[in-house]
Amino acid sequence: MIPIRDIARKPGEMREHSIEFPAPEKWGEGLVSIAEGEPVVVDVRLESVHEGILATGHVDTEYTGVCGRCLTDIAEAVQVEFQELFAYPGGEATDFEVQDDHVDLETPVRDAIVLSLPFQPVCQPDCPGLDPATGERLADNAGSEPRAPIDPRWAALQDYTSDHDEAARAAGRDVENTEES
Ligand SMILES: [Zn+2]
Repeated sequence: MIPIRDIARKPGEMREHSIEFPAPEKWGEGLVSIAEGEPVVVDVRLESVHEGILATGHVDTEYTGVCGRCLTDIAEAVQVEFQELFAYPGGEATDFEVQDDHVDLETPVRDAIVLSLPFQPVCQPDCPGLDPATGERLADNAGSEPRAPIDPRWAALQDYTSDHDEAARAAGRDVENTEES
């Protein structure tokens, strides 16, 4: 919450604030989220406009969670921009209103952060994921071939992934042969 008493109803006035607060609860429901208590730094410019207070800001924090492919714990910086108009009560309906002598940035900040969180976060851009047979991280033994699968269901999957192109070409030859004969 940021006081705006000194700029309210004074179009053209502007104030800049830098605030830091702990996330009041866990933000985000996916594989990664902002943990409760995680420091959130907000640099915001509040401009008094005719309809209310226009808040334009930048948020710095960090998300934590797990890689969507190999389930390793990950933590990554989050930097997002936001802009929201806080209208004076009684004006046109908006999502946010000036409350008495302050604006509450929590919801716009939270929404901007949550929308920016990756749906499929990865520990590294080319994370190879888990070995389907052993469940170990493939990134840990990069260079070595995945061990032979034990479970026949995975074997079928491996046939599909590794021999797929070959099978397609074989099928193509079959078609050609059929046409020739
Ligand atoms: Zn990973």
